[in-house]
Amino acid sequence: MFNFRTDIEFARQLDAADELAAFRNEFVISDPNLIYLDGNSLGRLPQRTVELMQQAVTHGWGERLIRLWNDGWVGAPVQVGAKIAQLIGAQPDEVIVTDATSTNLFKLAAAALRARPDRSKIVSDVFNFPSDLYILQGIIDLLGNRHRLALIPSADSITIEPEAVVAAIDSDTALVTLSHVAFKSAFMYDMAAVTELAHRAGALVLWDLSHSTGAVPLDLNGTGVDLAVGCTYKYLNGGPGAPAFLYVRRDLQQQLLSPLWGWFSAQNPFAFELAYTPAPDITRFWGSTQPMLSLKAIEPAVDMVLEAGLERLRAKSVQQTEYLIFLTEEWLLPLGFGLGSPRRPQQRGSHVSLRHPEGYRINRALIDAEPPAPVVIPDFREPDNIRLGIAPLYTTFTEIHRAINRIRQIVERGIYQRYTSDRSAVT
Ligand SMILES: *Cc1c(COP(=O)(O)O)cnc(C)c1O
Repeated sequence: MFNFRTDIEFARQLDAADELAAFRNEFVISDPNLIYLDGNSLGRLPQRTVELMQQAVTHGWGERLIRLWNDGWVGAPVQVGAKIAQLIGAQPDEVIVTDATSTNLFKLAAAALRARPDRSKIVSDVFNFPSDLYILQGIIDLLGNRHRLALIPSADSITIEPEAVVAAIDSDTALVTLSHVAFKSAFMYDMAAVTELAHRAGALVLWDLSHSTGAVPLDLNGTGVDLAVGCTYKYLNGGPGAPAFLYVRRDLQQQLLSPLWGWFSAQNPFAFELAYTPAPDITRFWGSTQPMLSLKAIEPAVDMVLEAGLERLRAKSVQQTEYLIFLTEEWLLPLGFGLGSPRRPQQRGSHVSLRHPEGYRINRALIDAEPPAPVVIPDFREPDNIRLGIAPLYTTFTEIHRAINRIRQIVERGIYQRYTSDRSAVT
């Protein structure tokens, strides 16, 4: 599909031809020696967000004080949700920004199980983010251990076979809940096919879009998805710990009830009634008062993704992950690396995992470099994955070239041997 070359001049040519290249200037990039390949864990800071935050703190909080709520702040969860809806193929009134991804998963999974009281099976997979699986285990415990969690296995630890999904979903399945793009291998499900399978069995489906939103075009309405949650601090660049979003298809909103009856989920929070009446719309899944500065920071970042357009972002992301894998095949496979991600781009999100028995120490050496060597920031996922995130809004082809070349150098020259295998707190 692509004809790549290994020389750095070729990387520069790809950058020169990149029609999204100007978006990089929209980000705070203070260290030219830093190659940041972790935008899939924490996206970079947009310049517009700096300006908006200064305004929000000094004018909003500092001057307007409590009046800020009626300056439009109170509607921000709905308003920013409507923008995210455009990124995931949903209606504006089907998405709200609130709470954390894990909390939203808890709310929607619990609501879904209550809507299928005669069924006892929850289907997920061995690739899911552990937090998601812990949340499900916690719900099972809370509901009196009447449910069981079935995890779809993987034969090759990189992909999930369609047959394995078919085999897992049956007439006792209440809920199918999966990460659309797996956090470790970047395996990406065929959302339409799995959703249809779940529906044919009478189950509800709940997708975690944390590693897809902002990187992969999504069509929740077109594929008939019931429920979804997702993160805003990864490819959406919303900032560390920024509130997450949740999606509930419009016709399900009145059928499902959040287990967290916070006042902002009530029909009229400011009536201060003593008995709870849930809001009739998506706001019934709003937790309570939100971390508003963090919430406001999401909007300019989402605007930028909308301006770039998901089709163009995905096209660049595919070209960049293909380029990264090309260089890996040329330079790294002979050094004992393996590809930990699907080879076919149709099955892959926007990051690539490289596996090596010394993955952890290589990862440390990448981060600790001194100039003129570039500092490369990937992240490490046990047991041996170096995860390289491509954020097409700001990752360049030259960075990819330098990063893979640096990995080659670290292994060829044994530089990683200076580092210990003892894990730090956050990897
Ligand atoms: C990043 C991520 C989360 C984040 O969970 P928090 O509640 O924000 O800590 C959840 N699920 C998946 C699949 C993720 O990739």
